[in-house]
Amino acid sequence: MFVPTLDLRALQQQPKPAAKSQKEQPYRAWEDLYRQKWQWDKVAWGSHCVDCYPGNCPYRVYVKDGIVRWEEPAATFPTIEEGVPDMNPMGCQKGACWSQLLYAPERVLHPLRRAGARGEGKWTRISWDEALTELADAIIDAIQEAGSHCVVLEGTPAQGGMMATMALSRIINYIGGIHNDVNAVINDFSPGIYLTFGKFNPASSNDDIFHTEFLITTHANPVYTMIPSHHFVAEARYKGAETVLVAPDCSPSHIHADYYVPIRVATDAALGLGMAQVIIAENLFKADFVKEQTDLPLLIRLDTRKFLRQSDLEAGGRDDHFYFFDARTGQVVEAPRGTLDVGEIDPALEGLYRVRLADGSEVEVTPAFEILKEKLRDYEPEKASAICGINPDVIRMLARKMATKTAAIFSGGTSFKYYHADLQVRAYLLVMGLTGNWGKKGTGPIEWSTGSFDGPFLFAAKSRSGVEETQQVLSIRAEMIAQLKAEDPSLTEEMAAIELAARSMPNQSMTPPVFFWYYQCGYQDNWNRREWNDPSMRRTFDEYMNEALSKGWWEGVARPTDQAPTRVYIECGGNTLRRTRGGQVQLLKHLWPKAKKIVTIDWRMNTTGLYSDLFLPAAHHYEKVTFHIPTPHLLNLTFSDRAVDPPDEALPEYEIARRLAEKITERARDRGFGEYVDANGLPRDLSSLYDAFTIGGEFVDSERVAEEWVQDTTAVGTLPKGTTLDTLRQKGYIRFTDWGLSPISLNQASDLKPDETHAAFRWHTEKKIPYPTLTRRAQFYIDHDWFLEAGEELPVHKEDPAQGGDYPFVMTSGHNRWSIHSMNIVNRIIQQTHRGRPHVVMNNDDAAARGIRDNEEVRVFNDMGYCCLPVKLSPSVRPGQVIIYNGWEPYQFREWQDAANVEPGMVKWLHLAGGYGHLRYWPLQWQPAPIDRGVRVDVKKIEADT
Ligand code: SF4
Repeated sequence: MFVPTLDLRALQQQPKPAAKSQKEQPYRAWEDLYRQKWQWDKVAWGSHCVDCYPGNCPYRVYVKDGIVRWEEPAATFPTIEEGVPDMNPMGCQKGACWSQLLYAPERVLHPLRRAGARGEGKWTRISWDEALTELADAIIDAIQEAGSHCVVLEGTPAQGGMMATMALSRIINYIGGIHNDVNAVINDFSPGIYLTFGKFNPASSNDDIFHTEFLITTHANPVYTMIPSHHFVAEARYKGAETVLVAPDCSPSHIHADYYVPIRVATDAALGLGMAQVIIAENLFKADFVKEQTDLPLLIRLDTRKFLRQSDLEAGGRDDHFYFFDARTGQVVEAPRGTLDVGEIDPALEGLYRVRLADGSEVEVTPAFEILKEKLRDYEPEKASAICGINPDVIRMLARKMATKTAAIFSGGTSFKYYHADLQVRAYLLVMGLTGNWGKKGTGPIEWSTGSFDGPFLFAAKSRSGVEETQQVLSIRAEMIAQLKAEDPSLTEEMAAIELAARSMPNQSMTPPVFFWYYQCGYQDNWNRREWNDPSMRRTFDEYMNEALSKGWWEGVARPTDQAPTRVYIECGGNTLRRTRGGQVQLLKHLWPKAKKIVTIDWRMNTTGLYSDLFLPAAHHYEKVTFHIPTPHLLNLTFSDRAVDPPDEALPEYEIARRLAEKITERARDRGFGEYVDANGLPRDLSSLYDAFTIGGEFVDSERVAEEWVQDTTAVGTLPKGTTLDTLRQKGYIRFTDWGLSPISLNQASDLKPDETHAAFRWHTEKKIPYPTLTRRAQFYIDHDWFLEAGEELPVHKEDPAQGGDYPFVMTSGHNRWSIHSMNIVNRIIQQTHRGRPHVVMNNDDAAARGIRDNEEVRVFNDMGYCCLPVKLSPSVRPGQVIIYNGWEPYQFREWQDAANVEPGMVKWLHLAGGYGHLRYWPLQWQPAPIDRGVRVDVKKIEADT
């Protein structure tokens, strides 16, 4: 604690000073101390992590005598669109006392080597040279003895921003190691959105919520998790918007909603499909939008349940050309592929037709809409109500409001984390598609996204510094895009960027972690358990995995195999033993014994650090130059400066990576080992790693790298002309002027205007530019063999399987109120605002039936494992549900056994599907991600003597 304290009693005992005139006495005793407390000799810009939705709040950081004394929200955002409130003030309670973390006892200030057994807590302080030599040798040993895929990096941009993430991955990419895709590691990937749009991340700017007339929030608790932007919801309500919270528990967000709709856990698909049924049955759907934007008018063969394709009708025809029945001419006509504009065609949505195939036979076909309509009979409001527990009249009311208003559905982070999350989200998207509620202001699915900051990605491709080299890289990219478009003239800019990303995979270390978990972490036992899976999974998980691999659906993706155990595992800021589903149960048992060197890079001792062999201390926010992950929610590049130097031996992650690169190069030369071929068959050379990392020794510190990133991003045109690092240092943040080159930001598919809020997908709805899906339309019908086999070609409701065993409670979760993940969870100031320790929230009646009183310790358990923690009683939780919010450190639990222990980390087998248009991997996209919601558990009181 560095804030001066004031002892008034001590002041009272001091002799009274002789009276002076006001002029001679500018300050007086205790007032003077108070004034001194709020003095500073330096102010810098700072910001924090990303998962606080949207994060990136620009803060002013006040420094006195080399110590950060406090911070405050800058609150300097201008108005963007006339009549729409500005973004100010962005901040939250964690940000308001972030500086306390810099001086907290859990900070690690020197490199440490484990002295006892892993997790025993015995450490030896060592020099950086010793630590990096040991790590460099471990990496070289692994490459020499087992191959470069045995070196694995996991991490998060939350700890150190872009600079930290890019630095370590630069080494891993160079040596041909494995970098686990963070979007699956943290399960922020929405398969439902990806299946429908061929991209996972439609995101509107925060202020666009102001344009909404009707907002449904589901799978989110925004008053906990969207603190900086939730005011737009309140402001929209002042303007007359109605808001709905759909949640199983009566969460704290319900008091800010006009309607609270309690739903049985994991039954959102039934609600969405019930609404869709009403919208169609009452003829409330927007037929023109459905015909133009979706695949619902495309013809389906009734004999195969597959789309009618050109290859069905013509010898040598294409598999990705599809058909309408034109109601105007009475003909089957090809759906345009290069545009969504149907021109003179009037695609029928209903009817049964006959077509003659290339082999002369005839089959019956019908629009997908007709099949959907038939399936929706199972979800008439009374039937849907029996599943989801919502009154049929409420389902009708929600449907009618969605259909008649400018409406949006914010389906939060929890919506990705259920076994059938894809079906739930697809059902909500169907409601939006039927009602024309995307691609205009105030509408749409609202999700998280990133992009626009191209500098780091251009840097990765450069072999020299400077704008000339940047232009060279840009022209090579332009040539490649032109080449792709020459191969397929119907490719849009967005599709070409995706194609480029997908084709570059053999050169990338980033990989879907599903293979790492399968081959290295023992999850295949869980994934193959039939009773923990959906009954429509007809074969074992292994059989699906083998088919996916043998058909080459994941070809070109760097991936670990069972032939080569992980030898070096580096965790940078991610705290894998806390956040990995089944963390300690799976990883300590399966991964830890394999790995010869486990390394944590972090600014604090966390649970993963406690079980590591080496701990490398990183600089904190405010102690390094970095940029936090930019998002379309904010549309600004936010700068975080080195307000103070890191204490003792802590170093910025870029500096750690640079020194590691130098040490690997040195050791490789000393050991006479440099050149090798990695598992993807690419030649590598360790002896030139340092040169490559620093681009000929020019980029030895993060300040210089940051300059280049900003310069290159400006060169692309995504920052205003003339922007430099100095501009950012003065202003703290700068609004983007365009999306840039990244496919993820192009996925927003809307013009970025300086004086308007942003709503995704306006290129699709206004310019009729196709979607990057197989059918080039928002795709609700997935005729992949596996989806047909599972009965999931259209969204349906399926019950959550009993993951973890047949137990009476369903466990849910969410970000807690007091921390972003576990970063702030032991901040002493924040801890004083709540019970300060993990707890499970449980319904009073459930607890009473088990003789459990408030704050008594219970054991939460299932077939996977257990954790012990006190109960917080609340009638807001529905009977049969328990909530353990996310973000506690395992070491805060008895025996360090935390809630992840009961999570089997199931993945849905269908998400291994590939070989089908957009169902393929590119960074952060289509891949299986583990499930942690809806796990089954039981709860038992712990008697005092146990
Ligand atoms: Fe903003 Fe996140 Fe910092 Fe809070 S923790 S002030 S939400 S950036």
